[in-house]
Amino acid sequence: MTSTPPTTRPKLTPPRTPAQLQPGATTRVLLHSCCAPCSGEIMEALSASRIDYTIFFYNPNIHPRDEYELRKNENIAFARKNGIPFFDGDYDSPEWFRRAKGLEMEPERGARCTMCFDMRLERAALFAHENGFQVMTSSLAISRWKNMAQVNGCGHKAASHYDNLVYWDFNWRKGGGSARQVEIAKREHFYKQEYCGCVFSLRDSNAWRAQKGLPPIEPGTLRYGVEGKLAVGESASSPLTKKETP
Ligand code: SF4
Repeated sequence: MTSTPPTTRPKLTPPRTPAQLQPGATTRVLLHSCCAPCSGEIMEALSASRIDYTIFFYNPNIHPRDEYELRKNENIAFARKNGIPFFDGDYDSPEWFRRAKGLEMEPERGARCTMCFDMRLERAALFAHENGFQVMTSSLAISRWKNMAQVNGCGHKAASHYDNLVYWDFNWRKGGGSARQVEIAKREHFYKQEYCGCVFSLRDSNAWRAQKGLPPIEPGTLRYGVEGKLAVGESASSPLTKKETP
């Protein structure tokens, strides 16, 4: 099959400016990233604000492993494209499942998600502490599917373990952030994940789809701004073969 490179680009709103982003006295920020579609806008806003930042990817909740690698590699590729340092945390999936015991039937935004945010942000806080970052933040709360107060609560708790570390609870959705998040995802043709990440969110998303008469999720088959599913044998990180959508 012939690969067709992207030929059109959606018109983007201007990136946010330094006046809108003020992390405090220091400008060295550790950005915990959950995936490229969520962190893309934040990365561009930080860069436009001339804030020195580093990405830390630690998301052992993502299941299965292929889905984890897909989301991580998408994030690595976008970081590399923008010249941003990227640190890859462990895929400590057994520990995530150990902590999730008894929380399997919790709904999204419930106690299992608090555990999940705690685990990821505690690890990010430790990395920040060990590597001299005084400010940390996360892409987790930019998603409208997440409870921002829940994410921020976990972030503040994680940072509070260290004297010289603060959690920056900037509202990344405001100031055009949510709109730009989608614009950038389409522009970059990021892999479009259809469930939050863990095996239980995959189960619950599929149960919801079954109720609506929709087929189950096929991980690894959709991209933002591209019509249709990727064919068998294509990967979400392979060159474009489908028609772009505006
Ligand atoms: S639904 Fe999402 S945030 Fe909640 S436990 Fe699963 S992966 Fe973590």
